[in-house]
Amino acid sequence: MKVIRIDKNDWAEGIEKIRKTYSLIGPVKEKFYHIFANLGSGQMPDMEFTNSRISPKYIIYPQSEIILKCSMNAEEEDYKIYREPEDKEYKEKAVLGIRPCDADSLPVVMRNFDTDEYKDPYWLRAFETTTLVGLACDAPCPSCFCTSAGSGPYNHKNLDVMLIDNKDHYLAEIITEKGEKLAEAAGWQDKAEGIADEIAKRKSDAESKIESNVHTDNLAKQPLLDLYEATSIWEKAAFACINCGTCTYVCPTCWCFDIQDEVYGREGFRIRNWDSCMYPLFTLHASAHNPRGTKLARLRQRFMHKLKYYVDKYENGIQCTGCGRCVRLCPVNIDIRRICNMMNSYDPETCTCEATVS
Ligand code: SF4
Ligand code: SF4
Repeated sequence: MKVIRIDKNDWAEGIEKIRKTYSLIGPVKEKFYHIFANLGSGQMPDMEFTNSRISPKYIIYPQSEIILKCSMNAEEEDYKIYREPEDKEYKEKAVLGIRPCDADSLPVVMRNFDTDEYKDPYWLRAFETTTLVGLACDAPCPSCFCTSAGSGPYNHKNLDVMLIDNKDHYLAEIITEKGEKLAEAAGWQDKAEGIADEIAKRKSDAESKIESNVHTDNLAKQPLLDLYEATSIWEKAAFACINCGTCTYVCPTCWCFDIQDEVYGREGFRIRNWDSCMYPLFTLHASAHNPRGTKLARLRQRFMHKLKYYVDKYENGIQCTGCGRCVRLCPVNIDIRRICNMMNSYDPETCTCEATVS
């Protein structure tokens, strides 16, 4: 793999060059936390950040997205006939500073949006036109558990370029053709030789700083109904939950949405909006029946989906990359690490489980 040295004195000049081809998105400080936002003319990403409060999933999967439009003018021939909006643009964009755990959420989410039966054109076009310039993570939070959730602080497998902060310069691993194209556009060509051992050491040091983990080895073997009926897990966990939905909104791997039809003036819009399995309205039927009418049922759905249904359906790990956002931001400290370890160790004979975070 090619590794390039980018002097930090040349960083801003390179960013300005790629701005000619790509629209840029990067971490910016808002009040006392960071978000990913469009970088306006001359604006630089703030690379001195731990991670953004809300995940950057919106870049490919917007929180609200018009997916179809129609005329509401009865005199027009295509009155009320929905069509894809003609003004929908998919320009090349580069996301600067995305963390490996967030990039690793993309193949997880893709399993929902790119299937043999259905390919979501909006998600796929946005994904294909996005170049991910990641930033390796040297100072993970105590709540991060990426190394036991299929990711890692130096995991570059879902990035196009991975930057490693090395004091006065970045080392940039060029991973894909998209990454190569971006490095060329930026004029970053100064090859760094003989640094493989140094990078391996940095990776190992970063991984050793991850303080917590989840145990997932037994999840696939657990009978689904035993976990579903494990009230000793769900009653305790659901007791404090206020169904605020924070955990699902900040999560890079949650993909649930709702579709709304709206009329504005003489146009109709079909809009896809993020939704949350933690909200009663999400599953409320027109008949007034709600299959998940209690908060226990909703909380159980979130964890069963991430840690059992997904595991069984895709046989490819859990629906979580260990970013730790839901652990940090749940107002009542419901901790997916603890729930995962409980589900993994649950014994249906005795209805007991390990409830520790290690
Ligand atoms: S963030 Fe916590 S309280 Fe809010 S819905 Fe999620 S688990 Fe419940
Ligand atoms: S479930 Fe929690 S820790 Fe896992 S990816 Fe989502 S927000 Fe991050």
